Amino acid sequence: MRNLTIVGGGITGLTAAFYAERYLPEDVSITLLEANDRLGGKIDTFETGEFAVERGPDSYVFRKTAMTELIHDVGLGDELVRNGVGQAYVLHHDGLHPIPKQTVMGIPLDVDAFKQTSLLSEDEHAALRAMLLSPPDITPPETDVSLGLYLRERVGDPIVDRLIEPLLSGIYAGDIDKMSALSTFPQFIEGEKKYGSLYEGMRHLRPEQRVAEVGAKKVGQFASLRRGLKSLTDRLAERLERTEVILNCSVEQVEEIETGYRLLTNRGDMDSERLVLTVPPRLIRQFLPKVDSDFLADMKPHATATCSLVFKETDIELPFVGTGFVTSQEADVMITACTFIDQKWPHAVPDGYHVLRVFLGRPGADEIVDAPDEDIVATALRDLGGLMNIKAAPLQAVVSRLRDGLPPYAVFHADRVRALRAEMSRVYPGVLLAGIAYDGIGMPDCIKSVHEQIKQLAELG
Ligand SMILES: Cc1cc2nc3c(=O)[nH]c(=O)nc-3n(C[C@H](O)[C@H](O)[C@H](O)COP(=O)(O)OP(=O)(O)OC[C@H]3O[C@@H](n4cnc5c(N)ncnc54)[C@H](O)[C@@H]3O)c2cc1C
Repeated sequence: MRNLTIVGGGITGLTAAFYAERYLPEDVSITLLEANDRLGGKIDTFETGEFAVERGPDSYVFRKTAMTELIHDVGLGDELVRNGVGQAYVLHHDGLHPIPKQTVMGIPLDVDAFKQTSLLSEDEHAALRAMLLSPPDITPPETDVSLGLYLRERVGDPIVDRLIEPLLSGIYAGDIDKMSALSTFPQFIEGEKKYGSLYEGMRHLRPEQRVAEVGAKKVGQFASLRRGLKSLTDRLAERLERTEVILNCSVEQVEEIETGYRLLTNRGDMDSERLVLTVPPRLIRQFLPKVDSDFLADMKPHATATCSLVFKETDIELPFVGTGFVTSQEADVMITACTFIDQKWPHAVPDGYHVLRVFLGRPGADEIVDAPDEDIVATALRDLGGLMNIKAAPLQAVVSRLRDGLPPYAVFHADRVRALRAEMSRVYPGVLLAGIAYDGIGMPDCIKSVHEQIKQLAELG
């Protein structure tokens, strides 16, 4: 191999370049093309006075080790911070309810303790208890299934709609009834297979596997960096020694040539033997028309806006002490979640302030994302105002939009990705696909996948 070109300078592209420098022979030239005038992609920490607010992702699931490994590899291990723990809530039409303790993604680990929740009526509790302790006569699925339908059969509709769906929609985009169980929470089915029921499977999870367990934790399950996630993408860029990074370079088309591929860019044509493409699926569809365009068309991302509001502590009365809340579809609000940053990330906020990060835009109803900043701020304040006493306007409001946001992970996602990659190796040899659309939506998933692919590329020689 003579050269490798990476398209996209987000965390996936930067990780690809970092590990390509480590694994590929010295004489392979490496180029990274980024359309924007900065690196980092979705990761962007906005520094404003004493505050640093994340415009995109704010943390990662610590048990997914690929990101921790990368952080140590670039020498930022000392900067790791874990989230503060506290009570989280779910908002319904009738107000805020504490998310019950000892649950994993809304599934109870102790059905008796779960009885205290105000989310279910007495009868609904009794029905849930019966379903968990004497599971219906169903066998664990052998192939992928809809996460919603899988859970509805095992825990019933009320808890799925009032607790599990709101928690999930903070992580994955799309309809829970169309979402892949195996590509989102494989541990549900694995646990059921091993221990005979979903309930027993969850109760046997090791603590580090308990994604989104609420309560009973001393250390938070998320990690970030003291000076924000941008410090990781900045450090990655600094550590690149032999990668030529070209900013403001947008790839417009890819052509096959005898020696590999020709990239048509706004800065001229560039030839490369191998490619790593980390751009959104719609562009892959345009660049590589010979592959499964149905799958790529289905991976249409859902747009999100976030609005971080900085208040003087005395200007707002929070409705509870805790880390924030998610909203159910029943709630009459536009906001989908709100994180109390000073509780979740105490290091990020000086004493005397509250910082609230509000999320807006649901799949299928994301017009708000295109609204002017003032409207987004006004919507956030209106919805928050119904839940807490806001006595004065925020000192600062930072609006961000992620238009190429979260793609839906539908049933049979992993099978379709496998088929796509098999087809790629036949019709576009030497082109790797990596990023949010394939092997998991979180940063650690993107890092793990591209790290492995670069290692395999090096082994091929
Ligand atoms: C609202 C939201 C919240 C999230 N929160 C979390 C979280 O808390 N934790 C977590 O782990 N994950 C989170 N994620 C997922 C996380 O953001 C992604 O996994 C990760 O950032 C993907 O990185 P990437 O490099 O693959 O893509 P990107 O960051 O999108 O990078 C792609 C890059 O390609 C460039 N590009 C595009 N087109 C071209 C072109 N034609 N030519 C050249 N360059 C091009 C873009 O400018 C961009 O820089 C969140 C995602 C969203 C949308």
